[in-house]
Amino acid sequence: MAVSNSNSLKKIKYVIPAVILCAVFAVFFVFLGNKEKTASFFAMDTYCSAKIKGKNSSECLKQIEAAVTDLENIISRHKKSSDFYAINRDGKGTLDKKQSAWLNAMLSVSKNSGGAFDFTLGELSDLWGFGDEPKVPDDEDIKAILSRTGYQKISLTETGISFPEGVSVDMGAVGKGIALDEIKALLDENKVSCGVISIGGSILLYGSDTLTVGITDPAGKSQYIGILTPGNGCVSTSGSYERFFEENGKKYHHILNPETGYPADSGLVSVTVYSENGLLSDALSTACFVLGKEKGTALLKEYGCGGIFVETDGGVTVTDDLAGKFQLTDTSYTMR
Ligand code: ADP
Ligand code: MG
Repeated sequence: MAVSNSNSLKKIKYVIPAVILCAVFAVFFVFLGNKEKTASFFAMDTYCSAKIKGKNSSECLKQIEAAVTDLENIISRHKKSSDFYAINRDGKGTLDKKQSAWLNAMLSVSKNSGGAFDFTLGELSDLWGFGDEPKVPDDEDIKAILSRTGYQKISLTETGISFPEGVSVDMGAVGKGIALDEIKALLDENKVSCGVISIGGSILLYGSDTLTVGITDPAGKSQYIGILTPGNGCVSTSGSYERFFEENGKKYHHILNPETGYPADSGLVSVTVYSENGLLSDALSTACFVLGKEKGTALLKEYGCGGIFVETDGGVTVTDDLAGKFQLTDTSYTMR
């Protein structure tokens, strides 16, 4: 069984540094004037990098790394000291203002996506063994978990959350986006003039309308399939190539269809979403991956966000919001 996931990436993180992310997600920087400062680190089970320009940038880079680590220590489902570990253990807990805002936004995406986005499937992800020892589970076990999970089981009050046993809140689809929102606040505070921060497949473009992002080639043949110049904001990509394993010649990836309990199979290999808000870009990219192109496009319209859908047959569709901001560079793909 061939295994490819970010755990294996973790193992080689100290051996192959910056090159990895460059290969995964090419980002180009347009910085005029002063030299920019850079940092790279590993957090949230992925490779992170930051390039910023402005006053106080060395100190700000330290704050960025600390913020991502702090956030991981709050939302991790597996770290025993985290807030969300305790919430999942107890089936309830108090939420501070930020946490409450995250969960309300997530619940809204769950409802508006008709449940394609469902953050209660932590146990199902564990059953598939993503991030650990992946394997195709027994169908019965999948059905048993689905029967007791679902975002509808989450109760939120202004300051708290509660849910029945068997439900496990999984921040995996939004953690990187939330990190970008936290980082944006730091860049504001530090009066950074320009910056590009990437947390795995989620990228913050800050302070310049000319910053560009390379959209990863899901097939891994070229580095990227094209270049997006969306303006300031957050760009998140969900793809079946990001974390997957192979069993009996079939590939299984980590974005699950909450209706079936199996990896989503909506004809897409990747979806990139652009939003001013990091959490939304991250949640919506996951939701759109499950929904497929037509329904995903409609969902993005509801939120006023743009997207790029890459289909299994190599077709690339850019929503109206991003029209004229994406340039296809890999001719083995076709614009729709
Ligand atoms: P990545 O974390 O690789 O950037 P995503 O943002 O798309 O990719 O999030 C995928 C993660 O979200 C999975 O690893 C899992 O923890 C969780 N997840 C899987 N399927 C769903 C789903 N349908 N809705 C919400 N979260 C999901
Ligand atoms: Mg996501």
